Amino acid sequence: MTRILVTNDTSPISALFSVKVQNAEQINYFNSLDYPLDIWMYATQGRDGVVLVPKDYVQQFQDELYSKGIEFVIEVENIKDSLELEDKLRADKARNRAMRPDNELLVDFDDIYNLTEVNNYLEQIAKAYPDVVTLVNGGKSFEGRDMNYLKISNSKFENASKPIIFIESLLHAREWVTLPATLYAIEKLVVNVTDQDLIDDFDWIIMPVANPDGYEFSHTSDGRFWRKNRRNGLLPNDICLGVDLNRNFDVFYGIGSSNNVCTEIYHGTSAFSEPEARIIRDILHSDDRIEMFLDLHSFGNLILYGWGTGDLPENAFALHVGGIQMATAINDVKEDWNLDYRVGNSALVLYAASGTAGDYGLKAGVPLSYTYELPGLRNSGSTILGFLVDPDFIKPSAVQTWEGIKAGAMFLRNLRRNSV
Ligand SMILES: [Zn+2]
Repeated sequence: MTRILVTNDTSPISALFSVKVQNAEQINYFNSLDYPLDIWMYATQGRDGVVLVPKDYVQQFQDELYSKGIEFVIEVENIKDSLELEDKLRADKARNRAMRPDNELLVDFDDIYNLTEVNNYLEQIAKAYPDVVTLVNGGKSFEGRDMNYLKISNSKFENASKPIIFIESLLHAREWVTLPATLYAIEKLVVNVTDQDLIDDFDWIIMPVANPDGYEFSHTSDGRFWRKNRRNGLLPNDICLGVDLNRNFDVFYGIGSSNNVCTEIYHGTSAFSEPEARIIRDILHSDDRIEMFLDLHSFGNLILYGWGTGDLPENAFALHVGGIQMATAINDVKEDWNLDYRVGNSALVLYAASGTAGDYGLKAGVPLSYTYELPGLRNSGSTILGFLVDPDFIKPSAVQTWEGIKAGAMFLRNLRRNSV
């Protein structure tokens, strides 16, 4: 049975669709859609795909789905309404916050900080906790912004027996909900420590904004759904710009990505053409004690590992078990309405992708390298908000992700004990 909702609005709109895939053929069809559609979440077995359809393509898209007998729902008829809702929810929170006394070292987990605020916070933390926290400027982004990260250690990164866990967020600019997850990790490791063993037994590298140019742009009125970096000069008049940083790493480069600048998965002119990807590469190679790498994305409720081609690395079993333990820890504390996390090889669970940071982590010798897809929001449990962030969801999302990170650290510790 096919359920079709056809808009009778005569003015063109940008609409958010969820598409109900029934079999592998429909999944493949959806996941390989490309005309200027913006896939927000790829379809997987038993899970809808979510796609933003530009106003001029809404009719064509509906006709195509109809002809293929694929069910769909228009989640948001005009995405501008969702943007306005996000603005309003954030403004309401900001008004309340202005009435509270400031503690600059505790993050208010009810808003998404902009780049300046994040950098100020990193500076303040480093200043207040000089014995534990070192602020590092890893270099400049394409547009010249600092790529800052923290090194967190109670042994000044000098204890050779400690493994390092490296976490980054916002490699994709619009995936705002990943930022509070890394800020919360910093808070739990430095300011409000409740698990002392996590700082006694591990060193940490945390980069909250891995794509600062894109992230800054995502805070402008036209940029909220920007994913890539801001590389320009690729096409005349910059009719399209930006490189998908998560396709720019030198690992199976160019296989599961696009050479079309105008797509969301454009891989750049060559592997590591982008300074942001090079800086992350250099961190991954900076210390052979890095034994876990978590690249935080949204959305999809997934924990994924390589390779993006569908081939499995030698330690796939350990990767899978570690992924399951992280996912279980999150599933145990998440809201009932939210989907369970799934774990698996990225190509088998999702789609083939090449040049990803997660795969490059493996290639660089980090045994436990994962891509997290944090949950997307549903407004009151029904309408998909996707990348849009309801302030009430920020803290729960950060806390839940922290449970996963903790479980990952425990898994790494046990793995090392058993292999000694
Ligand atoms: Zn992403």
